Amino acid sequence: MMENDLIARRARLLGPNVPTFYEQPVHITRGAGAYLWGANGQRYLDAYNNVAHVGHCHPRVVRAIADQAATLNTHTRYLHEGILDYGEALVARLDHGLDQLLMTCTGSEANDVALRMAQAATGKRGFIATDNTYHGNTTAVAHLSTRRPPIGGWPDHIRRVPAPDSLAPLGGSLDAQPQAFAASVAQAIAELEASGHGFAGFMLCPIFANEGMPGVASGFLDPTVAVIRAAGGLIISDEVQPGFGRIGSDFWGHDWLGFAPDVVTLGKPMGNGHPVAGVVARPEVMAAFREAFGYFNTFGGNPVSCAAAMAVLQVIDDEGLQQNAAEIGAYLLQGLQSLDHPLIADTRGLGLFAAIELAREGQPASHEAGQIVEAMRNRHVLMGRVGRAQHILKIRPPLVFSRQDVDFLIDQLNASFAVIPA
Ligand code: PMP
Repeated sequence: MMENDLIARRARLLGPNVPTFYEQPVHITRGAGAYLWGANGQRYLDAYNNVAHVGHCHPRVVRAIADQAATLNTHTRYLHEGILDYGEALVARLDHGLDQLLMTCTGSEANDVALRMAQAATGKRGFIATDNTYHGNTTAVAHLSTRRPPIGGWPDHIRRVPAPDSLAPLGGSLDAQPQAFAASVAQAIAELEASGHGFAGFMLCPIFANEGMPGVASGFLDPTVAVIRAAGGLIISDEVQPGFGRIGSDFWGHDWLGFAPDVVTLGKPMGNGHPVAGVVARPEVMAAFREAFGYFNTFGGNPVSCAAAMAVLQVIDDEGLQQNAAEIGAYLLQGLQSLDHPLIADTRGLGLFAAIELAREGQPASHEAGQIVEAMRNRHVLMGRVGRAQHILKIRPPLVFSRQDVDFLIDQLNASFAVIPA
């Protein structure tokens, strides 16, 4: 079989560091909208990929990339309108004085830069993040992104606070969580100050996507923000997952959660698959970064990347995709809430980002979550799982998802749950 040949070649050539999804990996050859086609012609519904934000291979984004690539591609050390037109369109969508843009190629680089911006702005070194998040793969952000202790142990200037959790809420109840979270951040700040590192900043995804999108409510962060402001640290909002309208009610996650970040980082959906990412901050933060570190990124902000990113913004507007995320997201959540199985502990959603938490007697049902993902793949629906024990089903499709797609997804979920013992 061709798949087996590809698997063997990958193992030989790529080694263990490029793993695939699924017991039977899927071989994809084409994509359009919310669909992918396998080499054998089989169609899959993509309920997972937030990178193909406006739909796989969207013709306007493809054309923008192709036209610009055929005209000019170079770096940001020459004058070019592309980065300026895009930057103006982007910062117009951000409040809180977030007026200046630095472009990178990946979310990891953007977060790495954001950490150094916080250090430059505060003159301090220490960072706080949750203990079950992911912010990327550079050496610096990897320390905020793994549950595996780095070689030599956790660096002393990094503190990881327990993430909010809907199955085992901090402080013992969902009502107590916001204060309990703020209390652990306050303690981490005190430890950083006592150790001499000082507190530079707190990095978070405002919907706690990689933590499994625990059901925190708008305003959850208010007590924590007060603690951080009193200590003088920066708040970095990692918008790689919620940004660009996915959550429907708001264009950005921090606007939904209700706080004013000092730095915002962007990635994944920004170029619909073209590698483009960025950092937005206030001018004085940008100036402090320049002075303390200097920066150049060979590919970041090149004219082709800017053309891709600009086309994405235009398509979101012209096709009403934020509104679609709100409407179809509500319909999706309704469908998920109609699922009936004793292992379903909670279903929740924000626009086109939804989660189904599986538990048995209050404990994560990780094995069964894996079984559902595999069963769905065999039924030609691609989705994933997330959470501290990988026990939360994750549904995060391109924003062009339709009612019919939801109906098909729910039918297949019903069939997949039907064979899972209670
Ligand atoms: N931040 C978050 C919240 C992410 O989920 C990811 C990637 N999954 C990143 C940053 C890193 O982005 P990239 O893979 O583009 O480096």
